[in-house]
Amino acid sequence: RLALDRAHVWHPFTQMKVHEADPPMPVIGGEGCDLLLANGERVLDGISSWWTCLHGHGHPRLVSALERQAARLDHVMFAGFTHEPALELVTRLRPKLPGNLTRAFFSDNGSTAVEVALKMAFQAQLQRGEKGRIRFGALRSGYHGDTLGAVGVGELENFMTGLFSPLLLACDRLEVPEDPRCELHPDLTGWPETLASARQGMRAFFDAHGERMAAFIAEPLIQCAGGMRMWPPELLQELRAQCDAHGVYLILDEVATGFGRTGTFLACEQAGVAPDLLCLSKGLTGGTLPLSLTWATEAIYAHFWGEPSSGRAFLHGHSYTGNPTACAVACASLALFDDEPVLANARDIHTAMKEAFTALAAHPGVRQARVLGTIGACRLVDPSTGQAHDPESRFGWRLHRRALDQGLLVRPIGDCMYLMPPLCTPPARIREATETLLKLLSR
Ligand code: PMP
Repeated sequence: RLALDRAHVWHPFTQMKVHEADPPMPVIGGEGCDLLLANGERVLDGISSWWTCLHGHGHPRLVSALERQAARLDHVMFAGFTHEPALELVTRLRPKLPGNLTRAFFSDNGSTAVEVALKMAFQAQLQRGEKGRIRFGALRSGYHGDTLGAVGVGELENFMTGLFSPLLLACDRLEVPEDPRCELHPDLTGWPETLASARQGMRAFFDAHGERMAAFIAEPLIQCAGGMRMWPPELLQELRAQCDAHGVYLILDEVATGFGRTGTFLACEQAGVAPDLLCLSKGLTGGTLPLSLTWATEAIYAHFWGEPSSGRAFLHGHSYTGNPTACAVACASLALFDDEPVLANARDIHTAMKEAFTALAAHPGVRQARVLGTIGACRLVDPSTGQAHDPESRFGWRLHRRALDQGLLVRPIGDCMYLMPPLCTPPARIREATETLLKLLSR
């Protein structure tokens, strides 16, 4: 089977020559927080399969919602039709959202949720007569997906921001400091001054670019693919204020941070900030099927009410938009938040994660251990020098392969190693994962 895979399958990120010796791992099942490999081994899904599998794998209520809905109405085009699973989904989700986000646009993955938000923001600005707003704003080192619009507001070389630059949206980028208060051994010397100067920097950034910007996009509180960079809620509040002052829409990308990952249902709740556009995906269906939503305020929606020829219609929609089966699974996933102690489990995971990263921080190969909600992260360094590992050594990738052999899925991002397990993970499994990591780091 691997020969077949090698001959015909183009895997994301892993097609480089260097992976010839590193074939993909055949996986045949999933059970709770574990993946079951074809070789009979059981692996803790320490990163929830790219942060999607919120309730682990094969949750019986998600599986049965999927089966029931697929048997009744598997799919129907969403233009000119509506259906109960979509209506139930917006009814369940709406009260959990901040501010005046009243309109949900359905699509299929995180990248398109972002793409939709960018297009809506630009078009709504045109409708307001703001024709000069042809640029976007974003945080440095962001990642918002890999379609061209989303790449344009991201800034990760791995995602070819440089290579594709002639094709990308015009974007101005703002640096924000990491929040040392998330670190387990924080050094808060000079922090008030750093925060004040970041605030000042943000004001200057908006004074310089605000007039030309349609929207500013950010992941609230933590830039996940950017290396689990946790940034201060005070600056998210300042960002909201600056967007308001300069007529810029604020897009919050909660594709990764949503659904309890940071300890609250949405991360932006912790700053008391509501966006104009909100992108949700990944955990939306609990990880079982692809689906995404872009929520817009009523004020934005009002700009799109008109004949197609008026330029007011939002001419966007995918074949699988609003897929009823995915919507039914998303409803079942949200129902778990009401019927089962999902957020209480998240709190237990938070406690276990703090213990785990406190233990890891004692290792000389670990720096800057930090935790936000159920996400724990640290920087991996060469213990003999205290410096970053030589990129040629591919330390993170080797750690990933060695951890798999020990029954743990982790996938460092550059020098950042992190855990973001399903919210059903028993704390004892996190302790086990810590022991595995400590053993591997000491070898
Ligand atoms: N936004 C964020 C914050 C993400 O982390 C990701 C995926 N890692 C995306 C958007 C893109 O989502 P998808 O991979 O489903 O297109």
